[in-house]
Amino acid sequence: MEERISRRRLLRRLATAAAIVPMATVVRAADTPLIRVDDPTAKAVKYVEDASKAKEAVPHSNCANCALYLGKSGTKDGPCQIFPGKSVVAAGWCNKWAPQI
Ligand code: SF4
Repeated sequence: MEERISRRRLLRRLATAAAIVPMATVVRAADTPLIRVDDPTAKAVKYVEDASKAKEAVPHSNCANCALYLGKSGTKDGPCQIFPGKSVVAAGWCNKWAPQI
């Protein structure tokens, strides 16, 4: 089953991403421990380490294909711009997911 993102929803996500990016601290993956799912900031955005378990997730969306993900392609985890100093699992997801353009 395919779900489409409405234009309004896409623009809202891009606006959120644009607001967050300047605040982000970009660091190397080797320096960033994984964020815990029980971390208050992770819970605030409903972060999970397995996108398939996120009921709100657009099908096939995950951290690896999120515009805010800073990990290298093919790696199992990497930094995320909304969690400065922390990494996320590439297969994870949160409600700030934004499509790469
Ligand atoms: Fe970060 Fe995007 Fe993953 Fe959310 S979905 S934790 S914003 S990389």
